[in-house]
Amino acid sequence: MQYKCKNCGGNVLFDPDSQKMVCAQCSSENSQDIISGNLESCPNCGAPLEITDKTTSSKCNYCGSYLIFDNHLQNDFLPNLVLPFKISKNKVRDLINENFGKRIFVPDNFLNYKSLEKIEGVYVPFYLYDYLSHCTLEAVGIKDRSWRQGDYIVTEHRHYQISRDLDIPFHKVPVDGSKVLDDAKMSLVEPYDYDQLLSFDTQFLSGFFSDQADFEKGDLETLAQEKARDFAKIILNRSVSGYTRIVKNREEIDCANIDSYYALMPMWIYRYSFMEKEYDIFINGQNGKIIGEIPIDKKKVFIYFSLFFIVLALIIGLGLSLAGAL
Ligand SMILES: [Zn+2]
Ligand SMILES: [Zn+2]
Repeated sequence: MQYKCKNCGGNVLFDPDSQKMVCAQCSSENSQDIISGNLESCPNCGAPLEITDKTTSSKCNYCGSYLIFDNHLQNDFLPNLVLPFKISKNKVRDLINENFGKRIFVPDNFLNYKSLEKIEGVYVPFYLYDYLSHCTLEAVGIKDRSWRQGDYIVTEHRHYQISRDLDIPFHKVPVDGSKVLDDAKMSLVEPYDYDQLLSFDTQFLSGFFSDQADFEKGDLETLAQEKARDFAKIILNRSVSGYTRIVKNREEIDCANIDSYYALMPMWIYRYSFMEKEYDIFINGQNGKIIGEIPIDKKKVFIYFSLFFIVLALIIGLGLSLAGAL
């Protein structure tokens, strides 16, 4: 399917600045008509589409129209929630310029408009899990105290019986459901503010790329449960303080999975090729946090240091000839 403008036939896209559907051609707001149907070729220009059976939204390589494959957004792969893009492509360009503009060794065209035009927004599928954890702790807390009494040092050990029985809820424990980014890098792009999640609507996909999750909800539940269990353990242990030592007799944490959601998180990707190597810069589409490796132009480094040594040699040469003249 595709969102087309009633007024001019242009592609209507979700605009992160206004949080509305806006026509890319005439800037009309909420002027979209839905052109439905399972797409095998671009409805705008007829070009064949490079998609897989996991593609849920993409762009025509020829005319640049954004398309949504709602036949791939069904059953387990119909998202419950979405975090719409808050940062626009223009803002991403500014952020990249601010971050990397002063790096003198980046290749010349790394920051030019044409290269930055390649930035695309991608929704990363996540699974979010709710848990209710029941935590119990039976322990003995010992407080030690010493003081001098005549020729003796008296030591007192006071024993306290500790008993904790806590119910701790955890809402929306996130696990990345895609292979777009490895988990270590994804955790650098995070966190997202999950309070801003909205009910899913295909409109949010118009203008962005997305694929179905590479994992199923059940595959990642153990990972989420481990996270919830670790948090619960920290909270439980923090509830006991002020003792010199604690001897634990029994510590139990049960985590019951109450609910789970399939959700999409916004991320911008700037993919740049230099000297046959791909460099990916990832930008959190909600808060603008940037991570990634940037290319270094070795020719620029060489020229810079060559100039530096020429100038240095000239200064030393001048110093020597001045010393000789005196
Ligand atoms: Zn229009
Ligand atoms: Zn097309």
